[in-house]
Amino acid sequence: MTRTSLSEIDLEYARAVADRANQYMVLHGVAPTPDNFAVWFSYSRGDLPELKRKIDALIEGKKQFDSATSRELYAMHLAQGSAAAVVAELPEQFKSVMTEAGRYVTDAIADNRDHMQVMGDVADQANSGSDPKHLVKCLMGELSKASTRALQLQSKLSETSRELDAIRESLNSAEKQANTDTLTGLPNRRAFDEFLRTAQISAMNDRLPLGLMMIDIDHFKQFNDSFGHGVGDQVLRLIAGQLRDRLRGNDLPARYGGEELIAVLPGATLAVCQNVAERIRKSIADCQIVRRSTGETLPSVTVSIGIAEFRFGESAAEFVERCDSALYLAKRVGRNRVVTEARLEGRSVA
Ligand code: GH3
Ligand code: MG
Ligand code: MG
Repeated sequence: MTRTSLSEIDLEYARAVADRANQYMVLHGVAPTPDNFAVWFSYSRGDLPELKRKIDALIEGKKQFDSATSRELYAMHLAQGSAAAVVAELPEQFKSVMTEAGRYVTDAIADNRDHMQVMGDVADQANSGSDPKHLVKCLMGELSKASTRALQLQSKLSETSRELDAIRESLNSAEKQANTDTLTGLPNRRAFDEFLRTAQISAMNDRLPLGLMMIDIDHFKQFNDSFGHGVGDQVLRLIAGQLRDRLRGNDLPARYGGEELIAVLPGATLAVCQNVAERIRKSIADCQIVRRSTGETLPSVTVSIGIAEFRFGESAAEFVERCDSALYLAKRVGRNRVVTEARLEGRSVA
């Protein structure tokens, strides 16, 4: 997909797209900032299918376009160097590198044919008794031309290989970006979905347990309202760091959505998961939060955690839903606690 720049768009068309973007923004209560306008302009133009799909899904789910959601949309799809922007440029780059390399190879093959022709002529002349001195000179000339050409081809092909390496690197980093949440640096929902899918298959193949924990910040709305969204973001990053630090190498922490984090723990039973979650809960509650701008100490933040263990054969949705129900119960019975799925069926007190 080639993205045309704004200056290449017809003025009338641009005006119509901009009007539509403004109407959408008013309709969905989006704050009129330049970045948001860029998002909605692109949405009404439909030039970034991933962005369009995501916004349509948010509208269908009746989600609010609050500043966090809007920022994420911009960062994921439009910010310079964003995964989508990098990927959009790559096919063109790839095409031009391959066309150039292809032209060189075609020229080299044609040259080679000419050389073969000259060699054939020299052989004919040798058979018909021509002056050997002249034939040797002729052969030397052709060999020198052929070796110059071979050197040029070699250097062109190494240049192409370097350019292909750069494209491969861009693709790798775009893939990494596409799987990473910009605010917390944790794997995002997409990475989580993919990881859980393979973890379920491995758990069934190896007959091993698989644990899941869902973490939601308590009264976070109130915290944002009291101290501002920026401080809230700082807290979210802090909590993400605590989660990451307390998991093992083959576990996967991820940002599941707004202020909800999630972690997949391959090999962990409900009881193991509960212990890990309890340590995470406690370390978060014990964190001292200091406002960077003023040095002021803020009230501590707590989290509620739901735990579930995979039942062989169930879908990812069923598994996550059970974990979410345990989390919901943790909220209902007082927050700042870990509740396992066993309690949903009255099997346990935790
Ligand atoms: P509860 O204890 O029931 O979870 O209460 P809550 O206020 O945390 O729950 P609610 O779902 O009502 O609100 C979630 C809040 O999380 C609202 C939203 O502003 C905030 N939030 C979601 N994503 C972000 C984000 O990226 N940054 C910040 N700062 N806040 C966010
Ligand atoms: Mg929540
Ligand atoms: Mg919450």
